[in-house]
Amino acid sequence: MITQRINEKSVRKAKALIDDADKVVITAHKSPDGDAVGSSLAAARVLSAIGKDVHIVLPDEMLENLRALPGSKEIVIAGKYPDFARQLFLEADLILCLDFNASSRLGDELEEVLNSATAPKILIDHHEHPTVEADVMISHPEMCATAYLLFRFICRLELFNFIDRQAAECLLAGIMTDTGNFSHNNADDPEIYIVVSELIKKGARKYKLYREIMECKSANAMRLRAYAISNMRIFPEAKCALLTLSRDELNRFRYSKGDTEGLVNEPLSIPEVKWSVFMRQEAREIRISMRSEDDISVNGICAEYFEGGGHFNAAGGRFEGTLEQAADRLISLLPQITEKYINHKK
Ligand code: MN
Repeated sequence: MITQRINEKSVRKAKALIDDADKVVITAHKSPDGDAVGSSLAAARVLSAIGKDVHIVLPDEMLENLRALPGSKEIVIAGKYPDFARQLFLEADLILCLDFNASSRLGDELEEVLNSATAPKILIDHHEHPTVEADVMISHPEMCATAYLLFRFICRLELFNFIDRQAAECLLAGIMTDTGNFSHNNADDPEIYIVVSELIKKGARKYKLYREIMECKSANAMRLRAYAISNMRIFPEAKCALLTLSRDELNRFRYSKGDTEGLVNEPLSIPEVKWSVFMRQEAREIRISMRSEDDISVNGICAEYFEGGGHFNAAGGRFEGTLEQAADRLISLLPQITEKYINHKK
């Protein structure tokens, strides 16, 4: 059996908003990942099935592999069609905010659009400390994926029967990608597997999704990963591994968006490494992602030292300066981080 986790009051309030709405806009975070896209598509599919006029508006393009998800071609990219995106938000009766906790995660332009839209908003998300101003906040950071939370929400709305194979595959894609194919992000929650079982019963093809979405890399991307890993630095005392890629290195391997997806997880295969950092040089800043095991809060580390945040074991941040300066900053902070975040007892 699956336990009830979303509170009844939120469900009732959300249901009333959905019942009253005709035009629904669904949106999710910038650089949309499998969970953002999968959740958006599944929500759109179910709401369309009950007669709503639904549009998905995402800030920018999704990764190439996610185009395999059914319905992805209908998504409006705000960066490409800003006027249409704005019009949809302004005409909407209801806005569904999926898989983000702060409106800044939509990027400057769409954030402004979201904030100027007057329609009621429902937030469904699993990132910590949501600040989006929504009429209904369904925030569960303990859950592995927004898609998992969304499945529960759909059931509570008594719309389980409207989940068809397409919606089921989109939800499953969200759960698979956010857990790294059932390995992290609270993947020990046994009820995930009850939900997965229901999705497969609905016709979702898990193996097909795995091949098309998880296991899809170009030859250049494979070589780039191998190169980054061969230059990995390990700091045994801090139980930390560091991967870096400069602009020049990325160009050498003809980097395209998504090629380093999941790379930050690789060092965690080493038993002595408990947290991993990946720094990638972008046009104006260094993008930093971190992953950790057990009770090491990379969310805290990113928030304290690198202007970022995220989940407890999966977070990101940024640094202004050169790649060397970013790496030096991390290395110089290691004793302090080790003291505060690694060698502590919860
Ligand atoms: Mn997510």
